[in-house]
Amino acid sequence: MNYKRSSALFAQAEKVIPGGVNSPVRAFKAVGGTPIFVKEAKGAYLYDEDGNKFIDYINSWGPMILGHAYDPVVNAVIEKAKKGTSFGMPTEIETKIAELAVSMVPNIDKIRFVNSGTEACMSAIRLARGYTGKDKIIKFAGCYHGHSDSFLIQAGSGAITFGSPNSPGVTQGTAKDTLLAKYNDIENVKSVINANKGEIACIIIEPVAGNMGCIPPKEDFLQGLRDLCDMHGLLLIFDEVMTGFRLAKGGAQELYNINADIVCYGKVIGGGLPVGAFAAREEIMNYLAPLGPVYQAGTLSGNPLAMAAGLAMLETLNNDTELFGRLAEKTAYLHKGFTKVLNENKTSHTINRVGSMISIHFAEDQVIDFETSVKGNNETFKKFFHGMLQEGIYIAPSAFETWFITDALTYEDLDATIAAVKKVTSKF
Ligand code: PMP
Repeated sequence: MNYKRSSALFAQAEKVIPGGVNSPVRAFKAVGGTPIFVKEAKGAYLYDEDGNKFIDYINSWGPMILGHAYDPVVNAVIEKAKKGTSFGMPTEIETKIAELAVSMVPNIDKIRFVNSGTEACMSAIRLARGYTGKDKIIKFAGCYHGHSDSFLIQAGSGAITFGSPNSPGVTQGTAKDTLLAKYNDIENVKSVINANKGEIACIIIEPVAGNMGCIPPKEDFLQGLRDLCDMHGLLLIFDEVMTGFRLAKGGAQELYNINADIVCYGKVIGGGLPVGAFAAREEIMNYLAPLGPVYQAGTLSGNPLAMAAGLAMLETLNNDTELFGRLAEKTAYLHKGFTKVLNENKTSHTINRVGSMISIHFAEDQVIDFETSVKGNNETFKKFFHGMLQEGIYIAPSAFETWFITDALTYEDLDATIAAVKKVTSKF
């Protein structure tokens, strides 16, 4: 496989775009080499500018749960575009997708659409602060909630990959209002709350962490957070940007049977167009402008193309009663296959999986939080990444990301992937 045209395009891009990319992880900095420039994609496959074909396990970092260029989504966007691409005025489709989302997800009465997961999480904490009248928030080391200032404190995803979790440009004033806790450690959360009594608005968490690789919540951890929030009058925010409409119709709230107070969405909810959303019970959502005092707005929010894509996506997820089961079975099949070949090749590893999220950590011990996640062997990961690429398998170019399984993957694709893992790791 050669990447000649991708290399040339990257060199050209680097002259006019910082690092040649519009989002850092895409640059392959953590693994070395040249990023692949995509020409097109359909179903489970990506095709690059050099004519190489890859089975895709990133899927735009989550949104393409049904595979690329899914016909009902594409057609809905084309039809909408013919009628105007943005008005900055209310449209009926916004109510339709809101009604559908509210019917699919437990415990939400109202939802507001924004343009990204970052915006959703940023707005959710503003709402929590406005509602409670408190300033501080608790976030977990290794969780990523977008690149808004309050969250760039020991963040996951690209922020770990680049080893600069505390970004310059985030002020001390902002940083002091973000309290850090340890994922899966309820005693630690208790002590953070006790040390800041009466000052905390909310706890924000990825209910299944996906930005330090995939890390499931320990049994009772989410319930423990719910109980602590109730006891101390804090709001619990589930950042379901990855897990929402992926782990179940009602996301992690449904899967774990825990109600959050505010829920954030992104990725799947937009069918691949720039969409985020946040949702809550009526009394909390009514704190937002124009009804309430907490301001939040957007020129392109509820954009008709984005809403058309999102609605077509959610309708499919709502109607296909077998989908989430099928996705989980495919992911379990990969898990079993990977375990077998990695054991045969005596490659130290830990695999974490929830529903259609899975990751291989090249670590001896269980990976349960940020500390154990960064213990994984990065040199092994780099070799693994490039080996898999050569075998036509595209995984995230960082050890701290999750693989996203799509319904477009066939069992032949899964077998080819397991065979590639076997071949690549046999050379370690
Ligand atoms: N929250 C989580 C859990 C995410 O995984 C991400 C993005 N990977 C975000 C928030 C930010 O979303 P966006 O990149 O759309 O701003």
